[in-house]
Amino acid sequence: MSINVLNSSKNDVTDAESLRQLEFIELAKQKVSALEKELGRKPKACVVTFGCQMNARDSEKLLAILKLAGYEETDSEDSDFVIYNTCTVRDNADQRVFGRLGQCSNHKKSNPHMKIAICGCMMQEQEAVEKIQKSYRFVDLIFGTHNIYKFAELLNTCLESDRMIIDIWKETDKIVEDLPVFRKYPFKSGVNIMFGCNNFCTYCIVPYVRGRERSRAPKDIIRECEKLAADGVKEVMLLGQNVNSYGLDFKDDDPGKISFAHLLELVCEIEGIERVRFMTPHPKDFSDELLDVIAKNRKIARHIHLPLQSGNTEILRRMNRKYTKDDYLSLVQKIRTKLPDVAITTDIIVGFPGETKEAVDDTIDVVKKAHFNNAFTFIYSKRTGTPAASFEDQVPEELVKENFDRLLKVVQEEAKEQTLKYDGQIQRVLIESVNDHDESLLTGRMSNNTLVHFPGNKEMIGEFADVKLLECHGFYYVGELI
Ligand code: SF4
Repeated sequence: MSINVLNSSKNDVTDAESLRQLEFIELAKQKVSALEKELGRKPKACVVTFGCQMNARDSEKLLAILKLAGYEETDSEDSDFVIYNTCTVRDNADQRVFGRLGQCSNHKKSNPHMKIAICGCMMQEQEAVEKIQKSYRFVDLIFGTHNIYKFAELLNTCLESDRMIIDIWKETDKIVEDLPVFRKYPFKSGVNIMFGCNNFCTYCIVPYVRGRERSRAPKDIIRECEKLAADGVKEVMLLGQNVNSYGLDFKDDDPGKISFAHLLELVCEIEGIERVRFMTPHPKDFSDELLDVIAKNRKIARHIHLPLQSGNTEILRRMNRKYTKDDYLSLVQKIRTKLPDVAITTDIIVGFPGETKEAVDDTIDVVKKAHFNNAFTFIYSKRTGTPAASFEDQVPEELVKENFDRLLKVVQEEAKEQTLKYDGQIQRVLIESVNDHDESLLTGRMSNNTLVHFPGNKEMIGEFADVKLLECHGFYYVGELI
């Protein structure tokens, strides 16, 4: 590992701020312990997460702080502390949060000790906060995405106050990641490598609510991965809205300025980390260097999630995606040539303003030519505050539905055909859980992200094992341990 990389002038503001937050956890502990005496039972806390993997990762931190403060984790919102970690990618996500908040007010009526907090992307929007201030007066704490690292401090203030506390920052250049975290899985973990996005796709609210791109210094990422490995984590997923622009915000003379591909190599060098995933690369920035690094490193999962969004060049232009149908297909071709065993999955939006039947034919054409192993298809939903929301040529609902069904059919046929290619193979899987429907089966994930269910002992959860793929069921396999 190059020593220069470890000398970046960029740092997580870990030490001083993390220590400060740990002190607030101690103070919160005293308050929760007093509450426990008063209630005659352990206070309970519930974290409700909406949205993406980055929110899920943030929620693990929120839960860790609540548990360290003395709360017992519960899935029920009828608890003593509820926090909603919100998403704002779709308008209807906002409505869901308001619906849940409304129900929560009933719990609060029967439990005067209850505290209700709300954080995440939706809180970066002024209208949402104003609505809560006006119509949801029972909420105790509101904060946004930039100061989530201050949760211990905010929790402490919230526990000693009866007033609504609002702490929202418009932006930040701070990154504080070295805080306690309770991981959902002891053997795999997400690792944030950057925050924010500079791309301004016209349908997306993320750049407005998460701010501009801010990369963590490589040494901080490596340190976090090393700690995870020491703690028994075998698989990490490097997370960012656009991982391919990792490091571009570093000054040119910063010795820590490295590319995403180089960062991946450094993470692969860590002993104990056996599989590395990443999410999400933008097709416009996918470099040859990255492909070479994946090709020569078996630790990097054989799975690339490459959001297409549309296969029509004019719609892509209106989405501000900065690639054409042909650019995308050439990239897929290049990936398939260099990495013949890689699975490519994608996201597709149907019903973007101005999208005609012919435009969807283009998307279907890309699905057929790219041979996606799977595609997440979404119906376009107008997001207030984005440029596309004011585009006049919104597509009639019936046409959207018709196009969606046509596309889905092709996506499913392709996915099935691609999954079937692995039939009879022996694949290395990370065993993640007992099967949801049949307790005699375990569920493992292949390097290409396909799930396989097979008989086994739950003591094996968290281990890698070789599994023979016996029966293909569309998107997943049933197999047996070798
Ligand atoms: S790349 Fe586009 S879709 Fe993704 S977060 Fe940035 S603006 Fe949103």
